[in-house]
Amino acid sequence: MPHYRIAWRNPNDRLYDISIRFRAPEDDPLLWLPAWRPGRYLIMNFAADVREWSANLRKVGKSQWRVNAKRGDEVEVTYRYFAATLDAGSSFLAEDEAYVNPSNLLMCVDALRGERCTLSLDAPVSWRIETQLTDFVARDYDHLIDSPIIASPDMRVHSFEESGATISMVFRNAHRIDTEALVEPVRKIVREQAAFFGGLPLREYRFLFHAGDRWHGVEHEDSCSIIMNRKTEGTDYFVSMVSHEFFHLWNVKRIIPAAFKPYDYLRETPTRLLWVMEGLTSYYGDLMLLRSGVWTQKRYLEDLASEIQRYESSPGKEVLSLAQASFDGWLSEQMHDRANAWFSFYDKGKIVGALLDIELRRRGRTLDEVMLALWRDYGQMGRGVEEDAVERIVGLSEFFARYVDGTEPLPYEELFAAAGVEFVSHPRAASLGMKVVEREGALIAEAVTRGGPAMTSGMLAGDEVLAIDGMRTKSIADAERAVKRAGENEIEILFAHAGIAMRRMVSARATGAVNVELKAANKPSALRDAWLRRDA
Ligand SMILES: [Zn+2]
Repeated sequence: MPHYRIAWRNPNDRLYDISIRFRAPEDDPLLWLPAWRPGRYLIMNFAADVREWSANLRKVGKSQWRVNAKRGDEVEVTYRYFAATLDAGSSFLAEDEAYVNPSNLLMCVDALRGERCTLSLDAPVSWRIETQLTDFVARDYDHLIDSPIIASPDMRVHSFEESGATISMVFRNAHRIDTEALVEPVRKIVREQAAFFGGLPLREYRFLFHAGDRWHGVEHEDSCSIIMNRKTEGTDYFVSMVSHEFFHLWNVKRIIPAAFKPYDYLRETPTRLLWVMEGLTSYYGDLMLLRSGVWTQKRYLEDLASEIQRYESSPGKEVLSLAQASFDGWLSEQMHDRANAWFSFYDKGKIVGALLDIELRRRGRTLDEVMLALWRDYGQMGRGVEEDAVERIVGLSEFFARYVDGTEPLPYEELFAAAGVEFVSHPRAASLGMKVVEREGALIAEAVTRGGPAMTSGMLAGDEVLAIDGMRTKSIADAERAVKRAGENEIEILFAHAGIAMRRMVSARATGAVNVELKAANKPSALRDAWLRRDA
């Protein structure tokens, strides 16, 4: 049984000391570190931060090592890992905290992957340690690396009993945040989701929160890690993220694509189902806020409208299907011209979830039945979800061909009208079709819209905008003023590409971006009442 030990010497050098002790299951046993982690479908190459490994290890691949040992030998290997990133899936070391996502830094003894393993964390005795692992024992390597850990002398914890489980909310850096006020909405979310699935499949669950400067969440089997953005007003983001991550406890942690069973941590594992795992989780996450009374119907529809607005304003919708975006998620970070060729499968998946739910409800069925069938036939049976399983359960092959596997415009007018919801979409004001940002005193075109005036004039993303209509542009406000003043008249734009200045004539025009509104129609609607019902 492998034993993992995590220690450190000088926290400010951000280096964890890792030791793994085990009996060699074979000659020259193979060890590897994941190249990605479930929840983020991108190659991240954690091996890049492994340092100073012991002399009995020799590197044999990008993320693989072999141990100089004979079968049956008692072995200890050691190495160090640099940990200075604080996000929901990373690891971090500081004077007052050890935050560990084991997928980043604990190597797998390949032949022992399925065996129980133990863990010790050498934190000062006065520190508190929070993790989903009971007594620091993991069922197997997969369970071990699915279990984030926070150790610190300074954390705030609120625990409550709900639906037969102990739910803990663990906060770091939460000074000046009224964490007590967040307990009640979380309890409502937990209760609603537990009732939906017919109970919680666990006895303990931990929300591990860090207050920071962004929003980021990662789901695990019996816990999740969430970074909260202190600068955000109100609790809408907080409850939406909590509800999303909690819904994952079923959808993706227990209802798992067959492609992920077992996870291949060393290679990309494409699946066309990421929109189901992420998009439907977002759809249900927010729907549960409505059903549990945490959000009003008006708030829910505003949020859905803003999602539609973002998706409908992305040119990538014309060329990329939802299933393909899911499959190619692994390539999205390396893609050039992302602004024109990509969209978020979270966003479109959530929108398609809403439209599919309405379409099913028109036919006397619901998406709830589909979700519960996935739980019953796959999650509870421990069976991986095949690539075509969702379409098979839903039926409606034409809907899938058009909106999931195809790029046809989504049928908002028809379906929202059927659901008693007014859908209003207006083109945005004329523009040059570029997104500009201020960088080191210069104005840079971060994205240039396909077919828009800026692209037609020869501009590329990354070009510096020097002047518009004869006026020097150094800020976003300068550019907006110049475009507004010109209206749709032809004006001169001066920009620099690869160090060469260029002068072109352009006219602002509408570029396909829209403003979207959704609101409940005045007429009563039984379908709307059922779709947007409130249980609590
Ligand atoms: Zn998610």
